[in-house]
Amino acid sequence: MMFDMDSTGFGKCIFVVLFVILAIVTPTRASLSDTYITEWSGGAIGAYSFTFDDGSTGQFQYAVPILNEHSIHGTFFLIGASVEAWYSTVGRVHVPQMLSMFAAGHEIGSHTYDHPHLTDLNDGDVHTQMSLAREFFNGYGIDPVSMAYPFSATDERVQSIVGQYIEFARCGYPMVTNSSSWDELNPLDLRWSSGSPNGSYDSYGSVETALATGTWAIGVFHQIDCSGIRPTAEEFRIFVEHVATLRDTGELWIDTVREIACYIRERSSANITSSYDLESKTVKVGLQVALDYPYVVPLTLRTDVNDYYVKSISQSEMPISYKVVNDEAGRLVQYDVVPNGGDVTIELTDQASEQQVVCVKPFEEDLNNDCKVDMTDFAILAASWLDCHLEPKEACFD
Ligand SMILES: [Zn+2]
Repeated sequence: MMFDMDSTGFGKCIFVVLFVILAIVTPTRASLSDTYITEWSGGAIGAYSFTFDDGSTGQFQYAVPILNEHSIHGTFFLIGASVEAWYSTVGRVHVPQMLSMFAAGHEIGSHTYDHPHLTDLNDGDVHTQMSLAREFFNGYGIDPVSMAYPFSATDERVQSIVGQYIEFARCGYPMVTNSSSWDELNPLDLRWSSGSPNGSYDSYGSVETALATGTWAIGVFHQIDCSGIRPTAEEFRIFVEHVATLRDTGELWIDTVREIACYIRERSSANITSSYDLESKTVKVGLQVALDYPYVVPLTLRTDVNDYYVKSISQSEMPISYKVVNDEAGRLVQYDVVPNGGDVTIELTDQASEQQVVCVKPFEEDLNNDCKVDMTDFAILAASWLDCHLEPKEACFD
């Protein structure tokens, strides 16, 4: 008997199968106003933090100017007692230096009050280490949310105590890059992924791993250019230039432990709403995060604008910077938004526009069509902040 496709229903079956295959193979076109948070800030594919322990003067003398020059913020884990008694602990960062680092946007983290093995202390003494350090930093208007365990000594008991004082803590072994998923992270046991460049641990390799796996590498530095200890200032400069290049191409997000850890947590708990009004050609996006301070780090959103062009973006009527990115599904607009800061309004138009990037002060467009903070403005701001914070304190604040 001849095989009759129609009478057996086989043809219909083939049609359904083909349809299903097509549906799977053809990329699903996101609908207008669909919004998601990029894995890392600015749509980068991996993240990196510079962290420095113990506050040796080489960090201030060499590392800080090199980082500043490249608009990179590092995390400095300072020992309260040694900053406080800097005149008797030669070779340590002192109070004016700490304030100038803080004013330039670097994160000041706690390395406890006087650097003991916390695992050797009883509960009361761990509390004392944490509270004395906090009191010291608070005295200068600094409220650390991150810490590093001295000697990387930690365990569950220590973590349950330090977690009452800070949000994030960096540990040591085994050295791995950190996940971008909050569920996979222990925020009180963040791992470092490399040590000094050209020293015993491979900083270049850890950055490569972060980019290859979409993870977060935390580099740890101690002394910089100190009596033959590596890295030398020059080795450090070359490494910073290397990562700054990766940052400038949009691949690598470089920021402090605080910013990156906050971003991961906020992204994991964010609630996004979006809608489109045909008549006014307006997209509304809401971004809610049910977290308190310090979770106020801006998240990078991408909203599908279909075939439209962007006329303007604002949050609570304040214009914000944006750039248009294209993926295989169409046109998306990328912008940074502080959670819980009110609805974002995206005005669309049919009119073709050449303008793909719009930067709103204090941001300026750079060569890579990104919006970067204008560091001249920032330096002026930092200088005036320092004027206020380095005596007489009372003269500047009422
Ligand atoms: Zn240390």
